[in-house]
Amino acid sequence: MLNRKPKSKKTPVKGEPVRKQKETVCSKCGKKRPYANKTKKLCQYCVKKVAAEKAKERKAKARKKKAETITQAKLDQVTSWLVRALHEEKCHACGKELPRRNLQCCHFVSRTKTATRFNLHNMLPGCQVCNMYTPHHVWELGKSINRKWSEDETEKLLELAGKQLKLTNNDRKEIYDIYLEALHSAENREYSLDERMQILDAVYEDYLRIVEKLIK
Ligand SMILES: [Zn+2]
Ligand SMILES: [Zn+2]
Repeated sequence: MLNRKPKSKKTPVKGEPVRKQKETVCSKCGKKRPYANKTKKLCQYCVKKVAAEKAKERKAKARKKKAETITQAKLDQVTSWLVRALHEEKCHACGKELPRRNLQCCHFVSRTKTATRFNLHNMLPGCQVCNMYTPHHVWELGKSINRKWSEDETEKLLELAGKQLKLTNNDRKEIYDIYLEALHSAENREYSLDERMQILDAVYEDYLRIVEKLIK
């Protein structure tokens, strides 16, 4: 006879075996939490926090860099505002009176030539119609410029336009700061036109001092 005894059944263990966890303390917040970053010993909250802090730093850095960079376009902008703040608030060509913000800064030599691009004698305020749609506008602008500064001013500008002017960011920053300061003083007080022309002359001299050694 076979006398088989039924094997005693093993009671199955439910779930995962309980492994005793090593105690982990976050190196940032000091709380007992499992590590989300084992190398740096950071809990999941602090990993997120650190990432957010780093992103903020990166953004601040980018902002600072952007503020320090004076592009030609940025210098164009302050130049344009300065020209409109210093001259009479009317179009040089058709004489139409307009508030500063509705006037444009018209260039005799186009902005493609750096040697004259930021030269204050190369620009006068004008209305949009004259600046953009009137074919003889530049000829009118030349006449106005010659009347304003000297009778051969446009010839000087044309000669200058053929020369090379290479501006570094520092050069542009230097010009930008001078123009911006003049713009603020011209905007903050009610100067007469004569006084505004005096500001323009002074700023123009400062500009020439910066670029004279750079023009080739
Ligand atoms: Zn933490
Ligand atoms: Zn006009």
